[in-house]
Amino acid sequence: MMRKVCATLALVTMTSTAWAAFPDHPLTLIIPFPAGGPTDIVGRVAAAKAGTILGQPIVVENRAGASGTIGVGYVARSKPDGYTLGLATVSTHGTAPHLFPHLSYDPVGDFTPISNLAASPNILAINPNYPAKNLAEFVAHVRANSGKESYANAGACGVNDLGMIWFLQLIDSKMSSVAYRGSAPAINDTISGVVPVIFDNFPSTLPYVKSGMLRALAITGTARNPRLPDVPTFAEQGYQGYDVTSWYGVVAPAGLSDAVRDKLAQAFEQAMHDPDTQAKLENAGAFPVGNTPQEFARQIKAETQRWGEVIRKAGIKFQAN
Ligand code: GLU
Repeated sequence: MMRKVCATLALVTMTSTAWAAFPDHPLTLIIPFPAGGPTDIVGRVAAAKAGTILGQPIVVENRAGASGTIGVGYVARSKPDGYTLGLATVSTHGTAPHLFPHLSYDPVGDFTPISNLAASPNILAINPNYPAKNLAEFVAHVRANSGKESYANAGACGVNDLGMIWFLQLIDSKMSSVAYRGSAPAINDTISGVVPVIFDNFPSTLPYVKSGMLRALAITGTARNPRLPDVPTFAEQGYQGYDVTSWYGVVAPAGLSDAVRDKLAQAFEQAMHDPDTQAKLENAGAFPVGNTPQEFARQIKAETQRWGEVIRKAGIKFQAN
């Protein structure tokens, strides 16, 4: 009897020590898009600060492809020990689940939501040599050349591809989608003029619009963005109800213990409420969020549902290039 009691006590002590010690070695944050894109920008800023708070570095690893679904699928299949985390986006958890024929994960059931880090608007931009100075001229040109031109985007059936498919339906026109592994390679081709139109997340496009390498025509959301106050919203140019917002949030595999989840969530929430982190993200064109696991879980469910409705209503089907 005595021996049995001792063994139980030893187990309890060991388990709570293991939790208290978390994390005792570096963590990995999988960014499912390439370096230099919006997911990467938000993820690296957050990882640096949250790592300092946790007392262990968070090493960022880019695993891009298939609109972020490859990297996020890898996270879903990782050990739920808190050391492998990933960034979910509106593409991986909102749009792709309704359109990808062979998705390797369930956006709700296969993850432990930790904290949504940030949100950002999207933007329609063109190479300065494209024959349009504003959205009205762009729409007229696309209509006159329906089916003949292409737009670049960060991944087939991701938010940027869908955002453009949706807009093209509103203006009753067609363009070909040229999907890349993420925003960074897509922007390169728009700047060089290979694919002169891009619908992109705001943070990756912002520096190129500022420098004049791209011309911005419209931004999503209800208000203009203070980083580019001269760029009108879609709504103020007649496209009310056309709402495409991107977001970037930390997830772990399903089955993570509540204690580890809460420790991670506290670190990321604190990181996102840090004035220095907030300034960095705002300068990059993102809005810091830093919500709780419960709020983020509700948000993922709502976004998965919302995009399902948009996709069904608009009759959008998977289109591979
Ligand atoms: N547009 C992607 C998304 O919001 C992110 C692209 C990137 O980070 O390169 O899901």
